[in-house]
Amino acid sequence: MKQLENVITVKQNMFQKIAGHEQVVFCNDPATGLQAIIAIHNTTLGPALGGTRMRPYGSVDEALEDVLRLSEGMTYKCAAADLDFGGGKAVIIGDPQHDKSPALFRAFGQYVESLNGRFYTGTDMGTTMSDFVHAMKETNFINGVPVAFGGSGDSSIPTSQGVIYGLQAANSFLYGNDELAGKTYAIQGLGKVGFKVAEHLLHAGADLIVSDINQTILTRLKKRAAEFSGSVKIADNEKIYGEKADIFVPCALGSVLNDRTIEQLRVQAVVGSANNQLAKHDHAQKLRDKGILYAPDYIVNAGGLIQVADELYGSNKERVLVKTKAIYHSLMEIFKEADREFITTVEAADRKCEKRLEQQRYQSNFFMRGRRPKWQIRE
Ligand code: NAD
Repeated sequence: MKQLENVITVKQNMFQKIAGHEQVVFCNDPATGLQAIIAIHNTTLGPALGGTRMRPYGSVDEALEDVLRLSEGMTYKCAAADLDFGGGKAVIIGDPQHDKSPALFRAFGQYVESLNGRFYTGTDMGTTMSDFVHAMKETNFINGVPVAFGGSGDSSIPTSQGVIYGLQAANSFLYGNDELAGKTYAIQGLGKVGFKVAEHLLHAGADLIVSDINQTILTRLKKRAAEFSGSVKIADNEKIYGEKADIFVPCALGSVLNDRTIEQLRVQAVVGSANNQLAKHDHAQKLRDKGILYAPDYIVNAGGLIQVADELYGSNKERVLVKTKAIYHSLMEIFKEADREFITTVEAADRKCEKRLEQQRYQSNFFMRGRRPKWQIRE
């Protein structure tokens, strides 16, 4: 009897943990060594969409916590980008350097297939497009694969375009026009996204202060700058936070907005592609207290997600760029709402997403009522 009570308690704890999520699937295939968790947070807007991360998690609990947090984030990201997809994510427990095999990804593909279209996935940290070429042999519910396999290719193009829309929205809110020229942008990280943003800004006639740990990239941008009217100044990696500029553009690491760096910032706004820029939730308030406009990262960097989602309609690069413009309009609404309601832009962004989910729930109910046969109507 005691044993049964213990089992019930463990089950209750598990349900408490996953409260708020629709479905969590544990995938276990000893033949290939696959141990994975798929979490579907919310499918109000459509099938769940989210990448698959592979990491040598220290424990199953740690992996579960990560996948629950990430899948919830995807619900908000899809809602904000006006996509008809819900939030989901998967994690594979293992070392990407040593534990991968084609068979493991085929086994994972079979689990994705078993969800029958409730979950679409592709690459994330620790997985590559070629891993999913193996998974595709077992399921069609895969996206973000190489162009040769029907995918849409480099997602950093729409992501960087989304950052440009974000910068225009911030300029419009702060200075009353979208103009990128004549301002100074401090860009941290000149990788796939940051370099494209830098080139676009130079082309528009802006001045840049840049930092990157990779010297070769910095030299490449300096050379490129000679073709444009804007200037490039290279900053020390640690000093970039204290550089005087109009907008700080973080395009490298997460947690770059923390107690130490916010103190140093001498900008009017922060708009960048890096994921999880705020070290803690309350750093959004710290930025607001300092009078710095913060464009929530998950809104700004949605361009790649928009492209991946678009694959499911048959890829079209022009359509992706048109849809990416939603980032501009979303941010304008968020900035205005935060200003009106005296709240942080993160709170305003979350509210906007929750409102979209609420509207969709109402609409589904409304149409369901319309379709319901008469004898079922009780009111
Ligand atoms: P990337 O790896 O191509 O570029 C990152 C750059 O940052 C590199 O040039 C690296 O040398 C530099 N860097 C690393 N540490 C640094 C430091 N301490 N100071 C300065 N520079 C440093 O990555 P990416 O694809 O350009 O993505 C940039 C950020 O945007 C990441 O946080 C990523 O998660 C996020 N993001 C990217 C996409 C996309 O489509 N690529 C989509 C959404 C979010």
